[in-house]
Amino acid sequence: MNHKNALSRYIGILKGKEKAKYLLCEDLKDRVRDAREIMKCCHFCERRCSVNRLDGEKGYCGVLESRVASEFIHIGEEPELVPSYTIFFSGCTFSCVYCQNWDISQYPERGTYIKPEILAKMISSVNAKNVNWVGGDPTPNLSYILEVLTHLNKNIPQVWNSNMYLTEESMRLLDGVMDIYLTDFKYGNDKCAERLSDVKNYLQIIERNHKLAEEQGEVIIRHLVLPDHLDCCTKPILKWISENMSNFRLNIMDQYRPEYKAMEYEELQRRLSFDEYQEALKFARDLGLI
Ligand code: SF4
Repeated sequence: MNHKNALSRYIGILKGKEKAKYLLCEDLKDRVRDAREIMKCCHFCERRCSVNRLDGEKGYCGVLESRVASEFIHIGEEPELVPSYTIFFSGCTFSCVYCQNWDISQYPERGTYIKPEILAKMISSVNAKNVNWVGGDPTPNLSYILEVLTHLNKNIPQVWNSNMYLTEESMRLLDGVMDIYLTDFKYGNDKCAERLSDVKNYLQIIERNHKLAEEQGEVIIRHLVLPDHLDCCTKPILKWISENMSNFRLNIMDQYRPEYKAMEYEELQRRLSFDEYQEALKFARDLGLI
């Protein structure tokens, strides 16, 4: 195909699925323009700070220009994604008290600004199955990511690795661009979300975006089981997934360890027990999820 005129990608790295979406390069440029409009009254995520980031105003995430904290070939992601060229941005739309990447997620000024055309060249030069946009969270960097893709002359699947607290407007900008949504479904209720990640109206937004993600691409749902959060979070999440999602892969994770401010929260001061993880797996198995 002619990469000068069109950007196409094949979606279907997950077994048993074959979908194809084509997006004209001109459409991509239009989306960069639309994304920059959003930045003038920022509502990339549902915090809807309404600050003019192009004019130097900072919102909750503190991100102005996109800064890359690190980028490398990741071999620790889900097997179907590895090797994955993973690009970590500084800054996040959440403030999780147990964040494992707090040294970049909570410090948006860290890292380096890389010109979009340079990052596109870096992507073209790596030997990886996909590009994995993460952070912190990729959401504040949506305009920058789209701009990088306008310079990309390689057909490589795109992974949106996110907390999924995007607005519908942002989800629309990703439609036809992202091939895989690698989601982080954290909480089964709004109270835990507000207490541990300083986020409001969590469930409604995250559930909506999971449904949109399923319409727009492949979905791999990650859920990190937190100590003492089986009944309030893990089980309601698994139940919702079983009742509302049909095309996805689920990764129930047990690697929680106390980091950042976790020691200030009694239940988060220890690692997950073997029994808790087994209970989560059994619950998922009984629902036919794994
Ligand atoms: S991306 Fe940042 S500035 Fe924009 S709405 Fe979200 S938290 Fe606010």
